[in-house]
Amino acid sequence: MSVKTQTKDLLAKLGVDAAALEGGDLAVRTPTTGETIANVKTASASEISAQIDKAHDAFKAWRKVPAPRRGELVRLLGEELRAHKDDLGTLVSIEAGKIPSEGLGEVQEMIDICDFAVGLSRQLYGLTIATERAEHRMMETWHPLGVVGIISAFNFPVAVWSWNAALALVCGNATIWKPSEKTPLTAMACQAIMDKALAKFGDSPEGLATIFIAEREGGEVMVDHQKVALVSATGSTRMGREVGPRVAKRFGRTILELGGNNAGIVCPSADLGMAVRAIAFGAMGTAGQRCTSTRRLFVHESVYDKLVPQLKKAYEGVSIGNPLTSGALVGPLIDKDAADNMEKALAAAKAAGGSIVGGERVDVEGNEDAYYYRPAIVEMPEQSGPMFEETFAPILYVVKYSDFDDAIDMQNAVGAGLSSMVFTLNVREAEQFLSASGSDCGIANVNIGTSGAEIGGAFGGEKETGGGRESGSDAWKAYMRRATNTVNYGTELPLAQGVSFDI
Ligand code: NAD
Repeated sequence: MSVKTQTKDLLAKLGVDAAALEGGDLAVRTPTTGETIANVKTASASEISAQIDKAHDAFKAWRKVPAPRRGELVRLLGEELRAHKDDLGTLVSIEAGKIPSEGLGEVQEMIDICDFAVGLSRQLYGLTIATERAEHRMMETWHPLGVVGIISAFNFPVAVWSWNAALALVCGNATIWKPSEKTPLTAMACQAIMDKALAKFGDSPEGLATIFIAEREGGEVMVDHQKVALVSATGSTRMGREVGPRVAKRFGRTILELGGNNAGIVCPSADLGMAVRAIAFGAMGTAGQRCTSTRRLFVHESVYDKLVPQLKKAYEGVSIGNPLTSGALVGPLIDKDAADNMEKALAAAKAAGGSIVGGERVDVEGNEDAYYYRPAIVEMPEQSGPMFEETFAPILYVVKYSDFDDAIDMQNAVGAGLSSMVFTLNVREAEQFLSASGSDCGIANVNIGTSGAEIGGAFGGEKETGGGRESGSDAWKAYMRRATNTVNYGTELPLAQGVSFDI
């Protein structure tokens, strides 16, 4: 069966109307073979605006629905996702090129966040605060915010939506999602799954949770729309530099989840077997196309000659192939631009004195329009050149270090601040890494790789990664507005700070 037919069948099973897949202005290709698998229609600016207006009306009704009842919608969404996990996971492999277990893992992450959000729908707690005035009570309450606009990247085509939508909906908001123009089909499938949950839920306002397919210009309509209270944008730092100021100009809120340039430090006491496995998954997994992919490695001089040959062996032996037809661990790059960027970075690394293993294009079933590459490991004389930028491809730069403080400084010396790891059995090094003067990233791990976060923790990073937090912990607060309320149940009207104003 051709990929196109397989895609059509899967989408039909998931509930997407076949008519929506033909005749549109946006060609959708699968990175697995490079062929076009659908042509979908993009939304016009006026259609997007009308959809936002509708979402705003829906919000006004939804905010009055009790939060645990809102949680019921997300519970139903989780049930639908469980029922469609295999099909949606396969579609992720087709459209984003992930290996099957990562495609399924992404859907599992959606299910997990739904479970989390359902529990959260019975919490959303505020505080009571001691007041200086007699017979007064002070408290804070959390209220729904409005329309939440979600912009997502190609590499997590479905999970990022669910992280945002599950929380936003239990918090009483309406959502409107612009998926990546490279992965519209998985988004259409998610909408069909959401529609099934909405139908089972019964009495939700129309336009509560919708998508629109658009390129960047369509995203800009949402970014600039006054009725979108929060823009949660996941993608490159370049995108965040444009979106952040535009939303701020109209005093809207943002959650920015941007690029990463993640590093690890391997110390003298490290369990090297564990380190090799963590580095291999972090750097080669998803063909290096995760925001949390391991891109830089600082290895202590005492273990360098043991660790690096083991890594090179792993790089030389890793299986590369079509995720739909082989059991390979490394799939394709998303497109030609990604391949060009990889080649440019490797050329720059070479010019900076790097010594490269891997990095060559691999022919897979003779698909000329698919971009399969052997992951590259590059030994660098020092941190320089392309190491300072995120190249969204499987390139791991390795640098030798002798002093732990220097290794932490090198790790923190880049623009991005998403994820980091240290491999050590030395408690002093581990604690220093996690301390105020250690890793400056939003995620800092000990004896665990940089990628593969669980939904229970808040996810996001500092500096050029944008500072946003999504998913677990108290990330829900970004989807609500806080009100401080003081109630006087006495018969006097004392003013704060002892101020008197007798009339
Ligand atoms: P991208 O920035 O090219 O596109 C991301 C999304 O932003 C797309 O939907 C795109 O249409 C939209 N967009 C771009 N410019 C816009 C604008 N001016 N206004 C409105 N929308 C705009 O990113 P990509 O290539 O799809 O994804 C890879 C990047 O995403 C990497 O940098 C990766 O690190 C990052 N990423 C970050 C996280 C995170 O949680 N921090 C997660 C996944 C991916």
